Formats: sequence, structure tokens, C-alpha cells
Amino acid sequence: MNTAERTQIETNPFIELFESQKIKSQKLRAGSIKGRKAKLKLIKNWVTNNNDKIIKALYDDFKKPEVEVLLSEIQPVVAAARHAISNLHRWARPKSVPTPLTLFGATSSIHYESKGVCLIIAPWNYPFNLLLLPLIEAIAAGNTAILKPSELTPYTAQLVDDMMLELFDENEVKVVQGEVKTSQQLLSLSFDHIFFTGSPAVGKIVMEAAAKNLTSVTLELGGKSPVIIDETANIKDAAEKLVWGKFMNCGQTCIAPDYVYVHSSIFDRFESELKKQLTKEYYKEGSINKNDFARIVNERHFTRVTSILEDVVEVGGKISFGGTAVAGENLIEPTIVTDVPESSRVMQEEIFGPILPLIKYDSIEGVIDAISNKPKPLALYCFSKSKKNTAKIIKEVSAGGVCINESVLHFTNHDLPFGGVNNSGIGKSHGYHGFIAFSNEKSVLKQRIGITSIKFFYPPYNNVITKLTRFVAKYL
Ligand code: NAD
Repeated sequence: MNTAERTQIETNPFIELFESQKIKSQKLRAGSIKGRKAKLKLIKNWVTNNNDKIIKALYDDFKKPEVEVLLSEIQPVVAAARHAISNLHRWARPKSVPTPLTLFGATSSIHYESKGVCLIIAPWNYPFNLLLLPLIEAIAAGNTAILKPSELTPYTAQLVDDMMLELFDENEVKVVQGEVKTSQQLLSLSFDHIFFTGSPAVGKIVMEAAAKNLTSVTLELGGKSPVIIDETANIKDAAEKLVWGKFMNCGQTCIAPDYVYVHSSIFDRFESELKKQLTKEYYKEGSINKNDFARIVNERHFTRVTSILEDVVEVGGKISFGGTAVAGENLIEPTIVTDVPESSRVMQEEIFGPILPLIKYDSIEGVIDAISNKPKPLALYCFSKSKKNTAKIIKEVSAGGVCINESVLHFTNHDLPFGGVNNSGIGKSHGYHGFIAFSNEKSVLKQRIGITSIKFFYPPYNNVITKLTRFVAKYL
């Protein structure tokens, strides 16, 4: 550590909080599973009793519709807490594992130890869910936590801040609000685990900061999640499911379908079914139903998404549906674009907004190659009735998660590990997998006292020992 880094830590406003959590985390490590469950119940009950406050905060942040808040912010948190409460005894129990013959007489087991003080940094797009889910996992594993919400969703950040003040002492769970500087001050402390959800670009900054303290990380990142609609797909079913998965939260979902390969034999029919579904779900007498459609989170992102749309037109792409953007309201219509070249921004950047490009294809091998030549996606969706095609896609394309004939819903199964690969993330979360992310899997070998098999191999090394060792090296 150089002098500048040392000075930064010494003047860090969060050092006292961090130190107090460190002392508490030592006590929690020795605490009971019953105590952890009681805390999870506090969270579950608070969320259940304060739905209206959560709905209001999300409306104030980006006019997120009530049903979407209930489905994507509240229900997953309540379900995750319930799942952890029901399973924690089983997850946390030490597990016996086999012991090899060379260690005859010994027993082996894995013990799940809390990591200690954890930092959870969240993005703005699901600002309640993405702070609370990792917190539930951190508490289930017996840790303390500092939560850093996104500054772009201040109402939800304040609500979670108030919630934690009401439920926990700050030496156990504390929200720290702030912008990039705050995040960087926190990142310079030697946390025992950092759980970061956000963009790949900031993920690299987080990992670099964590490396300085050799802190373990879970990085839940983003990227472009592709969709494949093959020639056997049920067109109406696929269109219904894609519209919901893509345009919920105004397309601002890490696992939102980002671009769609459609087999050329069904392209036109699929495109018109998509328009039909969009009209049915989001329009009333020719105008967009603003109550059922969230807004882009702020002006900066509004400008970013509209400039991606302008680029589509500049490079010769076609706006096949929607395309209207209302500045001042951060409203962008659900939009379908076609005929976009691979080099266009809409095909290169994570869209993170309500634009869906459709691309015609003829060969599934070509599609697999095209996806595999890009950074590994967080999610991959395939709509097909062909067992051969779906098996091929699952086997040949690397992705964090896959849905067959569905989009985004793998997130909601707490028994499935959630996370990306390389550019889309490192490590997994949800349920048991999240509990493991926040735990140290401690190996415990218990040896008998007196004669043990390995004592036969102690020096001095005579001929008999050498021969015996050769036998062991070959056969055991
Ligand atoms: P972001 O990376 O800009 O910000 C995330 C958090 O990091 C915020 O709390 C922010 O204050 C902080 N931050 C920003 N710049 C920082 C810096 N230089 N140093 C330290 N901290 C910094 O992401 P975002 O715009 O809030 O969210 C969108 C991104 O998150 C998308 O890429 C999306 O795909 C991804 N995401 C991933 C998941 C997932 O589960 N994998 C879920 C939601 C969003």
C-alpha cells in the first residue's frame, strides 16, 4: 500500500462503521441459526407490511407500475426470505464427505463459516430487489453488511436506509448513500466479501479495488442477452413472452432479451405477431398507456437510448414499430427495429431500454457462431419445439442461464444459481448458491490419535517404505 492509499483509508469516513461491523461479525460467526432466521423474518415481515411505501418509492423514482413492483421487487424478496428461512438449517449444517483410504481412520466434513463484513453495491434498475436479495443471503450466512444503493433511484435508497435503521443496529446492517466517491471510499476498505451488481465496466473497477485487499467478489454484471426463435417455435406464445420479458421495467432489466434472431421462414409472421402483442399490452385507442409502462430512469439514460435509436436510422436500419421518444418525460415507446447491421450501436452495446432488434437467420450454426463470438451473455433465450435445436443450443452456447420457451423467469427460481460468465459476471447468487457466496466453506479433517495410515510413510525412508509409496502412488 502506498502513502496516498494509506492516507485515503485513514481519512475514510466509513472506517469507524467498518470497524464496528468487524467486531460484531466476530460475534455473529459464533451465533445461532435461529438468530439468523429471526432477522430474515424481520425483513420478510417489514416488506409484507410496507408494500405501499415500496410501490410509492419506485413510482417516484421512475414511474414503475404497481404490478411490476409487486412482481419484480416485492415478491422475489419475500420468496427469497421464506426460502432461506425454510432451508437454512439444512444449508448451514456441516456436511460429511468421504475420506480416502490413504487417510484411513480420519473423518472429513465441510463447515460453513460466515465471511465477516460484506459490502453490497446495487444498481438502479431493480433498486429494492437487488439490495435486499444479496442482503438476505449475507444474513443467512451470518455476516454483517454495508449496503450502497444507487444514487439514481434516491427514493428507494432512502426507503431502504430507513428500513435498515428500523430493523438493525448499524454495526450489523447499515445503508450508506452516495455517488461514485462514496462507493470508492467503501471499496478501499478490506471487506471480507464484496457483492456488486452493475455494469461490466464498473465491475472491473470493483474487482481491481477488491484485489488490493484480496477480497472475494461476486460480480453480477450485464451485457447483451440474445434470443433465438427457430422455425418450429409457437409464434404467438413466443411473441407474448418476449414482449413481457423485454418491455417490463421499460427494458431496463439485466436479463432483458436484448436482440432476437428469427428464422427467415417465420420472420414476417413473428414480426407482425410482436406488433399485435405490443399493441394489446401497452396501447389504448392508439396511444401508449402510460400507467402500465415505466420510464427511463433519468435524462442521461434517455439521451443514451434515443441516441442508439438515431444510430439505427443513420446506419440504414428500419424502425418497424414505435420509435417515439418524449423528452422531459423520459418516455420512450416500445420499439422494434429491423435491418440493423452488426456494426450498429444497437447490436454492439447493451441496450438497457425499450428497443428490440430483430435479425433474420437461416442456419442455427451461424447463429451459434455469431453469439459465441461475442462476450458470454448473462442469459440466453430459445423459443423452439425442436428437441434437437434446444439441446444443441444449451450444449454449445456459453451463457449464465438459459430459458427454453420463456424469458427472464429463471431469475425467480431460488433453486437455480443466478449469475453470468466472465463479462456477464463472476460467481453465483440466489438461495443456497447465494448462501455459499457469502460463506467460507471450511474443510475439517478429524484424525484419530495414535496409529494412523500416514505414519507408515514417515522418514527414515527405507526400501519397504519406498516400495509401499510407489504402490500407493499408483493405485490409491
Ligand atoms: P453501474 O455499474 O453504473 O452502477 C452500479 C453501482 O456502482 C451504483 O451503486 C454506482 O453508484 C456504483 N458505481 C458507479 N460507478 C462507480 C465507480 N466508478 N466506482 C465505484 N462504484 C461505482 O450500473 P447501473 O447503471 O446502476 O446498472 C446497470 C447495469 O447493471 C447494466 O449493465 C445491467 O445489465 C447491470 N445489472 C446486472 C444485474 C445482474 O443481476 N447481473 C442486475 C441489474 C443490473
